Amino acid sequence: MNEETLLGYTNYVTKLFADEDDALTECRAEIAREGMPIIHVSPAQGKILYLIARMMSPKRILELGTLGGYSAIWLARALPEDGKLITLELDQHHADVSRRNIDRAGLSSKVEVRVGPAADTLKQMQADGEPAFDLAFIDADKDGYPAYLDLCVPMVRAGGIILADNTLSGNILDENSDSGIARYNKAAAAHPALESIIFPVLRERGIDGLLLSIKK
Ligand code: SAH
Ligand code: MG
Repeated sequence: MNEETLLGYTNYVTKLFADEDDALTECRAEIAREGMPIIHVSPAQGKILYLIARMMSPKRILELGTLGGYSAIWLARALPEDGKLITLELDQHHADVSRRNIDRAGLSSKVEVRVGPAADTLKQMQADGEPAFDLAFIDADKDGYPAYLDLCVPMVRAGGIILADNTLSGNILDENSDSGIARYNKAAAAHPALESIIFPVLRERGIDGLLLSIKK
């Protein structure tokens, strides 16, 4: 399939199913204005995250990698009034921008942004006896992915899910690849506590993957 056709399908799905409201449009505009990398999920992928979350009737969601809060807004919209999303971000500027975007979306009572390296924050959360999550979305630095899997599995309830973004990217087709993504995909596939698959997802440029794992 050529790039033009892929883009056509992406636009078709987006237009039909993933219309943004002002808060989401403004969130993306703000990320661009602030000179942050444009690496948030696409509107269509945001809708996928939202619908997967909705199926879980989640009370608690964990996100690794906030950027400007774009995916956090989609996910948090699947939460009930008393639900909570904790999102972890390394960069203080990204966290500041995300808090403004989350506030504009009317979600600041449900969403908490914690600043620091995600692995450290997760270890601290475990030490503090953080209650289990229904869903975790991993989308921070790719080198950290294998460690994030080990840290997230015990933090998700039985029957809960772990989603990992960008899992069909980089040189994973190289059998000798030891990239973070390659190691994450192998570890998820072989993990005794998980049942997993990669969903191909349409992006503006080509396809990428969303790895879905259910904890047994
Ligand atoms: N989930 C976002 C995009 C996240 S981009 C969305 O789709 O809207 C990846 C983010 O991870 C960046 O903001 C980057 O600063 C952050 N990040 C990089 N290394 C990190 C680390 N060690 N811990 C936490 N966040 C990290
Ligand atoms: Mg991503």
